[in-house]
Amino acid sequence: MMTQKNFWQTPVEFIKGIGPERAKLLKDELGIATYYDLFSHFPYRYIDRSRFYKTTEIKDDSTYFQLKGKLVSLRPEGSRYTKKLVGNFSDGYGKVELIWFNRINWVEKALQPGREYVLFGKPSIYKKQFSFIHPELTPIDDATSVTLSSFMPFYHTTEKMKSKGIDSRTIARFMRALKEKIREPVPEILPSKIISFNKLSGRHDAFLHIHFPKGDDSLSKARFRLKFEELFLLQLELLAMKQARVEKKNGFLFPVVGEKFNTYYKEKLPFKLTEAQKKVIREIRIDTVSGFQMNRLLQGDVGSGKTIVALLSLLLAIDNGFQACLMAPTEILAQQHFQYISKQLYGMGTNVTLLTGSTTKAQRKKIFPALLNGRIKLIIGTHALIEDNIQFENLGMVVIDEQHRFGVAQRAQLWSKENSAPHVLVMTATPIPRTLAMTLYGDLDVSVIYEMPPGRKSIKTYHRNESLRLRMYGFIREQIAKGRQAYIVYPIIEESETLDYKNLVQGFETLKTVFPQPEYSLSILHGRMNSKEKEYQMEQFRSGKSQIMVATTVIEVGVDVPNASLMVIESAERFGLAQLHQLRGRVGRGAEQSFCILMTSGKLSEVAHRRMKTMEQTNDGFKIAEVDLELRGPGDIQGTRQSGVLNLKIANIAVDGQLLALTRSEAVKLFKEDHDLSLKENTVLKNYIEENLQQAKFWSSVS
Ligand code: ADP
Ligand code: MG
Repeated sequence: MMTQKNFWQTPVEFIKGIGPERAKLLKDELGIATYYDLFSHFPYRYIDRSRFYKTTEIKDDSTYFQLKGKLVSLRPEGSRYTKKLVGNFSDGYGKVELIWFNRINWVEKALQPGREYVLFGKPSIYKKQFSFIHPELTPIDDATSVTLSSFMPFYHTTEKMKSKGIDSRTIARFMRALKEKIREPVPEILPSKIISFNKLSGRHDAFLHIHFPKGDDSLSKARFRLKFEELFLLQLELLAMKQARVEKKNGFLFPVVGEKFNTYYKEKLPFKLTEAQKKVIREIRIDTVSGFQMNRLLQGDVGSGKTIVALLSLLLAIDNGFQACLMAPTEILAQQHFQYISKQLYGMGTNVTLLTGSTTKAQRKKIFPALLNGRIKLIIGTHALIEDNIQFENLGMVVIDEQHRFGVAQRAQLWSKENSAPHVLVMTATPIPRTLAMTLYGDLDVSVIYEMPPGRKSIKTYHRNESLRLRMYGFIREQIAKGRQAYIVYPIIEESETLDYKNLVQGFETLKTVFPQPEYSLSILHGRMNSKEKEYQMEQFRSGKSQIMVATTVIEVGVDVPNASLMVIESAERFGLAQLHQLRGRVGRGAEQSFCILMTSGKLSEVAHRRMKTMEQTNDGFKIAEVDLELRGPGDIQGTRQSGVLNLKIANIAVDGQLLALTRSEAVKLFKEDHDLSLKENTVLKNYIEENLQQAKFWSSVS
């Protein structure tokens, strides 16, 4: 234990204005228990409060404004349920309306019409005028005293805290009270070599200035230091996890490229592998003779041909006497893999078994013992495969398709299934920007299928408005007349009152009249159908008996019907970029020119517009992922929520990519010099990690 920790370990209840009750609230809501915890609760934003605007300067509703002026009037309006408080505020240049819906009585008592106030808030546009809803009004005399230091920090709170009177401003007050009490500096944790090499400010200064910046410069230095620290620790953790895995040294050995692999490769492979596919196979071959457990992420855009890589990996395991399994995120996809692989392996004496949620009890009763005694060599399924009661005789290779659909916890569960872990290949078609991959999958090795199979024409994408709907139908007819098939995808199943989006059920009725039988045949697919129905509808389409597949996003992942050349996405503004790209990837799988039409109606938001433009401009999944990351931030990218490694407090990998790369290389450097942090200069860091990081167990298993 470091002695100087004592001060920082003092419970927050001793800070002025907190006390036992609020201390409990802080603990329950934000996990803040000690002085240190409170000081680690960084602002997420700052407002320059030295600046006052004129009402005439308010041009949009995107930022906060601070005004100085008089509260001209204040009166309640409406009756019981529609009651609100309406104020009128004038700064001599113009007027704005103020509105309160909550705590009306309280506000009415607190404010005095005729008095001068500093108004602070975000304007909304209401009846074509700017008004402030629930603005903050501080009497001029008070305002000039404390709050108006030039950068006003904003702190996260929760609804519950706000209802008990702890808002961002209250927390800022706590911080000031804490600052008065500080007796010793926040302890440094980074080795001085790293601090000086990267020109970082000291830890105490950084903490101080993140809460109480003296200006732009002081703030950006503090932010840089704290972001650096956060990302650096994260990278160290990931490196330690990787090291821990590698050091287990119990990777199964697949020394032979045996009969099945060779037979399949030489006699059955329906096409020549691309160079990128070959490279990945080589990487997997190297991993599986290294003696270490393989943990490899395979990234390849939709349609790049990951399935065949999966199949060859599975065969490699089987040839070496192991069992192998392929796991898919949906029943449809598991089914499709099962059919495809069964067909590919036909006549080779390898039975393929399917296990999904709808596998019957009776079937399970046969499957489970056969997995345990090793009679089943190859099994394909959904997450039903990682239910607790399934045991393998000697599972050697696990391939997980479309990884982002599975939580990382599930991945781990699968690994620990056996005493010695199988090799794991996770495949994802959601290209992840490099920076994100480094963080999300920093403990994995990464392979990329960087090229598409030959002869693919890139998909032509058009964004179309409702007014061109009839032309769009005409285009579908043209495609069908050429022998092609089309998907039409809807964002939801049934009409809801709140959302005005094209819906599947209604859409299907309309489409039946636009494309009448017997000339046309339509299939329908959505998540509320049982798997027998889904299978039937899918088969109708796959075999070409129906020409149009009307579906929700259940068809998003992995479905492969090469003859389909047209994808129409209704209410496309509803979808995120990653999803649009996934959906579009359902076409362009054959040799013909494929098309994607993005239908939208009404006026689009700027972000939605940007998504449509991006889709029109590129087919490159990596580029799309970059834009996606930029538009949405990492928290919304599939899979990142569950991963836990992204609970970043201050860094933002959407914008801090460069810093991430820097910390990565610094972490690698440190790790090389002193991987168990046994050098004296690294002791503080080691102590900090052991005491603070959730994943410290990974670390201790290294050292
Ligand atoms: P994804 O990476 O999206 O899973 P798939 O494995 O489903 O892609 O492959 C997409 C399509 O490309 C399939 O129809 C597959 O048979 C075909 N394909 C894969 N590899 C090649 C190749 N090397 N040459 C030609 N076609 C290929
Ligand atoms: Mg696939």
